[in-house]
Amino acid sequence: MAAKRYPLEKYRNIGIIAHIDAGKTTVSERVLFYTGISHKIGEVHEGAAIMDWMEQERERGITITAAATTCFWTPARDLKNASSEEEKIKIREQHEHRLNIIDTPGHVDFTVEVERSLRVLDGGVTVFDGVAGVEPQSETVWHQADKYKVPRICFINKLDRMGASFENSFNSILERLTPDAVAVQLPIGLEERFEGVVDVLEKKAFMFEGDHGENIKEVEIPSDMVADVEKKRSTLIEKIVEKDESLMEKYLNGEEIPVEQLRQVLRKATINNELVPVFCGSALKNKGVQLMLDGVVDYLPSPLDITHLKPIKGNDPKTGEEIIRQPNDDEPLTALAFKIATDPFVGNLTYFRIYGGTMKKGSYILNSSKGNQERVGRIVRMHANHREDVEEMYSGDLGAIVGLKNTSTGDTLCDPEKPIMLEKITFPEPVINLKIEPKTKADQEKLGIALHRLSDEDPTFRVTGDQDTGETIIWGMGELHLEILVDRMKREFNVEANVGRPRVSYKETIRGNAEAEGKYIRQSGGRGQYGHAKIKVKPLERGKGFVFVNQIKGGVIPQEFIAPIEKGIKEAMDRGIVAGYPMTDLEVTLFDGSYHDVDSSEAAFKIAGSMAFQEAAKNASPVILEPIMKVQTIAPADYLGDVTGDLNSKRGRIESLSDRAMTKVIDAMVPLSEMFGYATKLRSMTQGRGSFTMEFSHYEEVPKSVEQQIVEGKK
Ligand code: GDP
Repeated sequence: MAAKRYPLEKYRNIGIIAHIDAGKTTVSERVLFYTGISHKIGEVHEGAAIMDWMEQERERGITITAAATTCFWTPARDLKNASSEEEKIKIREQHEHRLNIIDTPGHVDFTVEVERSLRVLDGGVTVFDGVAGVEPQSETVWHQADKYKVPRICFINKLDRMGASFENSFNSILERLTPDAVAVQLPIGLEERFEGVVDVLEKKAFMFEGDHGENIKEVEIPSDMVADVEKKRSTLIEKIVEKDESLMEKYLNGEEIPVEQLRQVLRKATINNELVPVFCGSALKNKGVQLMLDGVVDYLPSPLDITHLKPIKGNDPKTGEEIIRQPNDDEPLTALAFKIATDPFVGNLTYFRIYGGTMKKGSYILNSSKGNQERVGRIVRMHANHREDVEEMYSGDLGAIVGLKNTSTGDTLCDPEKPIMLEKITFPEPVINLKIEPKTKADQEKLGIALHRLSDEDPTFRVTGDQDTGETIIWGMGELHLEILVDRMKREFNVEANVGRPRVSYKETIRGNAEAEGKYIRQSGGRGQYGHAKIKVKPLERGKGFVFVNQIKGGVIPQEFIAPIEKGIKEAMDRGIVAGYPMTDLEVTLFDGSYHDVDSSEAAFKIAGSMAFQEAAKNASPVILEPIMKVQTIAPADYLGDVTGDLNSKRGRIESLSDRAMTKVIDAMVPLSEMFGYATKLRSMTQGRGSFTMEFSHYEEVPKSVEQQIVEGKK
């Protein structure tokens, strides 16, 4: 059962990135299918092995839902000259790569899911629909990948579809995503006549034969393509040599540059995010996927290749000192828990990526984010069609620990002797909330378990309790996000609950400065109470949160009562002043007060702090803040007037209007409270031809007229 240790340079930790419908599922299935065949080392006749696979696929379905699936790939190029099975085995031993495929969700509503998967992968394959080319949601996903500096290759899929165009799709990538895209392949034929692909660098043509396109056959480049291939090859080579001085020199001298050198430079440029190789095919028709996998091996980085772009950086949890780790097994264990999932067979799984060091079954690890140790009872590696128990995992590996109790998404797992805390995954604010109320006592208990589990899995899902009313409130990123979570509570946890309507998560702040004092003094009979604090409040910039400044000198208030005062202020802030929403973006300075030798207590100072704050905030022009969303709507030009008119009526600010193919793109900032039900409205306004994406941008003060409605509970 001892795992084979693959050399780290043969690892590819990649994600297949695409928005819904581009064909991510089909591409992933084919990847697992072909890698399954490729790895079938041994006597099994290949035909039989494939049958085996197809049976299994039908019976159980390939596991493409695992957060990380391991498979193996030997480039077709390396295998093609093998004349016998033995020879193939030898070649595989030398050239086989381990691909860890990290699941990335296609729905941009779950930005966080996309972002956290981008965090753990080293490279990505972006899939496009060869008819539609770059779609609005592809842009969102692309920019997220830019943010994490993920080196990418592209796969233009569905070239068999009616209306497919490699040229248009490729141009849409150049125009909308990156001028650094380079076509390394060209399709042979299109639509129902799509037959194969030409490798532009090698000047070779390939077709895919057999029931599942598993036999790659080299053919002549069709004569009507020869001139175009030459032209595209020159463009490609120009782009490549620009990235390397010595090649440039050769090129300018008119020398023929060996393909292998060109590939090396293209690899380096891809890893540095300077070029993006573009492949093509049809996953459904079993064409091109294997060559795209060769591209993964050729151009996407191993964990060793990207430390200059994304060093493994963290802090010592005690001293805060920065620590840099190297991607090798000799380092202290440094891992990130990037997803918590529930597996029907083994239960609670914590998916992790090891950045440095090794993780052993039976050992204790430190969760440095939570400050507790946990035992690694069982480690599993997910394959396409089975789950493998392993004793140990190494630097660069992705796997899952079974049964961890106190670990949430984004936590760092490390060597207890050499603690490190990796950079936190930053999650956007949950801007929508709703009340949830269990129907029976039994549901109450199940609800508790469900909420606990779901918030462990999903850091943008938060739960709070209203102490006054005993209500439970859940918070999320959007209507759909909460809808799905509520649905999961019903289906997976059998919770029956009454659910309120989604509400906007407003906040409050102050616009002015004020001073106030809070006195909580009770001195009639028995032990008295004495707390007294004087504070100043002042507004801070948006997004700054809460700052507390202690200016007490000479023990006017003893040190042990300062924290209780701050606590009282925070509690008052959470209760709000205008309409009961939590306050933010303000500074409170505690500058004076007094105490009593006998009667002062923490409780008394907490109350004094709270009283002082309420008084000060009331006099500092308190206002309500609302979340503003960045909305991008796309619609045919005919509907432009209706769409912009509607956005204006929603208090939206149109930021830009642009043309894209046959459609108009409208970028706007719109208050979230106005966006409820927009999907339906847009659909009916544009006869189903409009679409939109939306993400949180920032908080802004609400106009007075709206404030009144919020106070009255109408919004
Ligand atoms: P996902 O939503 O990105 O996972 O996309 P799917 O893989 O589920 O594909 C969406 C639809 O496109 C499905 O109906 C697929 O059968 C179809 N599809 C996927 N790849 C291709 C392809 O290469 N050609 C054609 N014609 N259809 C495809």
